[in-house]
Amino acid sequence: MSGLAALNMPEEAPAARPRLLVIDDEAGIRTLVRRVGRQAGFEVQEAGAAVELRAGLQQAQDVIALDLAMPDVDGIEVIRELAQSGCKARLILISGFDRRVLDTAARLATGLGLNLKGALPKPFSVTDLLALLRAEQQAPGRSTVRPEITAGELRRALDADELVVHFQPQVDFGDGSWRGVEALVRWQHPHYGLIHPAEFIPVAQTGEFAVPVTERVLELALAGYSEMVETAGYSGVLAVNIPGSALSDVHLPEHVMARIGSRGMTHRHIVFEVTETSLANQPTVAADILARLRIKGFNLSIDDFGTGYSSLESLHRLPFTELKIDMQFVQAAETDGVARAIVENSIELAKQLGMKVIAEGVQTAGQWRWLKARGCHLAQGFLVSRPLPAPDLHAWAIAWQPPADE
Ligand code: C2E
Ligand code: MG
Ligand code: MG
Repeated sequence: MSGLAALNMPEEAPAARPRLLVIDDEAGIRTLVRRVGRQAGFEVQEAGAAVELRAGLQQAQDVIALDLAMPDVDGIEVIRELAQSGCKARLILISGFDRRVLDTAARLATGLGLNLKGALPKPFSVTDLLALLRAEQQAPGRSTVRPEITAGELRRALDADELVVHFQPQVDFGDGSWRGVEALVRWQHPHYGLIHPAEFIPVAQTGEFAVPVTERVLELALAGYSEMVETAGYSGVLAVNIPGSALSDVHLPEHVMARIGSRGMTHRHIVFEVTETSLANQPTVAADILARLRIKGFNLSIDDFGTGYSSLESLHRLPFTELKIDMQFVQAAETDGVARAIVENSIELAKQLGMKVIAEGVQTAGQWRWLKARGCHLAQGFLVSRPLPAPDLHAWAIAWQPPADE
């Protein structure tokens, strides 16, 4: 750790510094995190045992760096306690266990509603930690935190027509050709700019909003599709996300038919993406609607495959035509043998079932080549393009070139 000398920082902390609590029984790690934390502008507090940890949590912390293994309290218990106390701090997990333990703890923390910012396997580099802490410091909106999205705000957004849809291309691994687009909703907020779905979809998918938001997105997606037909000569597929909560109106298939008919499109152009997790609450009505959409000739994609609680059961029960491998497996496949096996077997499974298989979150040429070699059909991800407004797809299509084979 020769770089450490350079990290010596003045001990005085200015009054309004954000607070970082480091929880680790190894004094060496605490010292390292303290130094790096100060370098990133934090006021740092240390806890080497449960009693110090509880004292540290008496004060509001901005960031907590937590080692999963402590002699008198384990990190999972701490995660549970933080969640129960409604902790708002951003959390960085550290662990000397194998990567799967760290990943499991990370998923648990997110699942319990904690604000997870990163997971660092030991030994970690000073650069990685510094990058994480600096990103925290520079995170947009730190001082102008957006208020939580409320039902009232969303209603206003719908009335004021503030939802917009961007399109992310999907291309063929074989020849790189443009085959599809996924419609992804955004909220063009008058004060906060473009808000991404992670912030408002949780509200938009509940009760009164599920159907109107989905209908609005479908309308915007169809309008964008028509625009791409005109400006880019596009003739591929349009994928639209449908939350399980919108699969409650048994007349949905007829409504969709009426809308696409009036635009001169056919059902074969449309893929509905459904996540199995979103189907959990209304399995019977949802199955009725999905079956009828399929009978009418629409395609159905099982989105985020592998992340729900019953991927295989959903696959067995519902008439999906496409399997969309979740990006967490796609991105981890290069370094993690378990993710690699999941991706390889998902591709194989889709093919045996006669389904199209698409990898989402393809970000590097290495991932592209690896997936292509395994016979995956379609790619979607930042390597190909970020989601774009409809008028920008034409320029993308002209510039796009798939990575060369090695
Ligand atoms: P999803 O349906 O799995 O959509 C893919 C998400 O992955 C998109 O995020 C997309 O921008 C992102 N993505 C694609 N390629 C990459 C990549 O290479 N790297 C990374 N890091 N991310 C990539 P987005 O637009 O923020 O949407 C997030 C989720 O919000 C969607 O996940 C979907 O579940 C939901 N969502 C988006 N639009 C709609 C909608 O119109 N209706 C409903 N019900 N849900 C929507
Ligand atoms: Mg999707
Ligand atoms: Mg997905």
